[in-house]
Amino acid sequence: MDIAFDRNHIWHPYTSTINPLTCYPVSRAEGVHIYLEDGTKLIDGMSSWWAAIHGYNHPALNEAVTSQLANMSHVMFGGITHEPAIELCKKLVAMTPPSLEKVFLCDSGSISVEVALKMALQYWHSKGESRAKFLTLRHGYHGDSFAAMSVTDPDNSMHKLYKGFLPEHIFADSPQCGFHDEWDENDIADFKDKLESNAKQIAAVILEPIVQGAGGMRIYHPTFLKRVRELCDEFGILLICDEIATGFGRTGKLFACEHAGIEPDILCLGKALTGGYMTMAATITSKHVADTVCGGEAGCFMHGPTFMGNPLASAVANASLQLLQDTPWQEKVLGIEAKLAELLPTLLETPHVKDVRWLGAIGVVETHSPVDVDTMQKHFINKGVWIRPFGRLVYIMPPYDMNSVQLQQLVEAIRSGLNDYFDNKG
Ligand SMILES: *Cc1c(COP(=O)(O)O)cnc(C)c1O
Repeated sequence: MDIAFDRNHIWHPYTSTINPLTCYPVSRAEGVHIYLEDGTKLIDGMSSWWAAIHGYNHPALNEAVTSQLANMSHVMFGGITHEPAIELCKKLVAMTPPSLEKVFLCDSGSISVEVALKMALQYWHSKGESRAKFLTLRHGYHGDSFAAMSVTDPDNSMHKLYKGFLPEHIFADSPQCGFHDEWDENDIADFKDKLESNAKQIAAVILEPIVQGAGGMRIYHPTFLKRVRELCDEFGILLICDEIATGFGRTGKLFACEHAGIEPDILCLGKALTGGYMTMAATITSKHVADTVCGGEAGCFMHGPTFMGNPLASAVANASLQLLQDTPWQEKVLGIEAKLAELLPTLLETPHVKDVRWLGAIGVVETHSPVDVDTMQKHFINKGVWIRPFGRLVYIMPPYDMNSVQLQQLVEAIRSGLNDYFDNKG
């Protein structure tokens, strides 16, 4: 592969053109493995950013794409509908919490967040109230587009850089009680305070239920989420749950909000929706919210992407959801969780590790000091695994089919990789 061209001309996520990070040429991927061009076989600990839950090159997903391709790869969604979209939305309505029954399909996670925020704004506009604030949590991540960025942790997303351009929303302290800790009622105090004192301006609360992903890999107590729902109900504020990372079984429940037994008013889904094959996301809401939005001045919801409901993406999403239904995903995820519970605490014996935490098929190792992603990545490649750390966080969220031997290899690679890194100072 022409790596020199790549370095000179192609932007990768969050990279510099002046000093681009190392990029590894991948020639194929199969099951839980990624193969580099030179033949190196890596165990994949990332599921390509939470997406490839069934692993790579899956026969059923391949079949869904190729057979749909023979019919049509795309038609516009304005004034046209098709079987793959109908089948997909049927499945989504059936599997998500009962109150959610109106599905808006869109391109990517960030856009599904934009859509959710716009729904909330239009909802209040229809009700004749001007509400333009969102309440969210520190350490949250909701995407890279402007509105999504405005509700993402202000430090991580460099709010100060976009000052004057990003709308200013309200950030409450992130939960401190871990998933397995004893619940402390003080944990909700700052959120409650901010909600009460801004109640008339707040259109919606937006958060990632139970697991805050890219903003810090924090796994918090279900009672926090329960309290959020109660407070939103008390003040008539909408609750948007961003399950783009947590959705489709990752936390051991089909959706993370099930850990708290709550239903959001608006749900954002993405990432694993197509089993990691294509970009697609969905925003799902209740009849009440949808009808209120459409009963307003605009008479409709003001959004409609060009590639909305793309048939190829819909077909592969259908196949991915069907696979979830037909395979014991929960058994697999809980098996991974049990193995992580056994293996991760042993990492606390190394002097470099500050904390370990896990839930479902998510394992997080927090180091005392930040690691340089480029150097750390090299160590991991040497150990035969694909893990991409950020800051002080080395985390894994493998495809659900990862067996316990492979999981052990991942965790051992983290142990020896961190030792190599810190003992040699890079
Ligand atoms: C990844 C992610 C997004 C953004 O999704 P994109 O597809 O990258 O736009 C939004 N919210 C959460 C919680 C995510 O993990």
